[in-house]
Amino acid sequence: MPPKKREPKSIESRRADLITMRIAVLGSGSRGNCTYIEGSDSAILLDAGFSAAETMRRLALVKADPGMIRAIILTHEHTDHVRGLPAIARRLNVPVYGTEGTLACCHARLERHGALTAIRMGDGFGIEGFEIEPLAASHDAWEPCGFRVSENGASIGCYTDSGVVSPRIIEDLKKCDAILLESNHCPEMLRTGPYPEMLKRRIRSKRGHLSNLAAASVLRELKSDVPYVILAHLSEVNNNPAKALACARGALGFFAEDVVLSAASQHEAGPLVRI
Ligand SMILES: [Zn+2]
Ligand SMILES: [Zn+2]
Repeated sequence: MPPKKREPKSIESRRADLITMRIAVLGSGSRGNCTYIEGSDSAILLDAGFSAAETMRRLALVKADPGMIRAIILTHEHTDHVRGLPAIARRLNVPVYGTEGTLACCHARLERHGALTAIRMGDGFGIEGFEIEPLAASHDAWEPCGFRVSENGASIGCYTDSGVVSPRIIEDLKKCDAILLESNHCPEMLRTGPYPEMLKRRIRSKRGHLSNLAAASVLRELKSDVPYVILAHLSEVNNNPAKALACARGALGFFAEDVVLSAASQHEAGPLVRI
């Protein structure tokens, strides 16, 4: 028997009166990661993987207001997430938040940037109106994490650069209104692709990246609980948006029509959307 279906709902109408959060993925992938999350009167940048000039260009393209940005929060120290530090922090004149491990690894980049705030796994923290909860990630970095960013009862979950997703993280993601979820590679494309064996092993390891199948198994659990899903950190070599989206759609099955599904690109900014 098919699972009991929830009433179809328009995300716009369901929440238009409540939700003040907007998100634009300025870019996601090995060339750079940066996401703009906006609340009622402030915003944050998640990661700083593009140069300051490119970040400002993409912010302007999506018509985001850089003046609203109050902080940069970092998931981990890999170059595709911190390339623009500290130039972006200086340009925006905002503090940088990250786990101790991440900040320690960015030390050389951040030396002259005074406003660093260490966050601790398991401890939520606030930035203006946002409540932010770090979500532990499993990745070959010092102390990587994802985040759940909430404001006025709405929340966005961002989870990329992890080799596995624990049941605990799935529970956290279920509470979100929108998620940015890694769908890095197609296992078959990775297997037959040009990468050296060692790199292939690293990518598919427990401290590597989530495959399309791993993302699919998360979505199978979430069903239509999260009405807005953006697939992220797609590999250019070992994946393509059509494959990632088809896999995600297949996993959602019956619930796919209730979920707005898209794939982020590293070459261009996605639209600034209200969740
Ligand atoms: Zn990484
Ligand atoms: Zn990355």
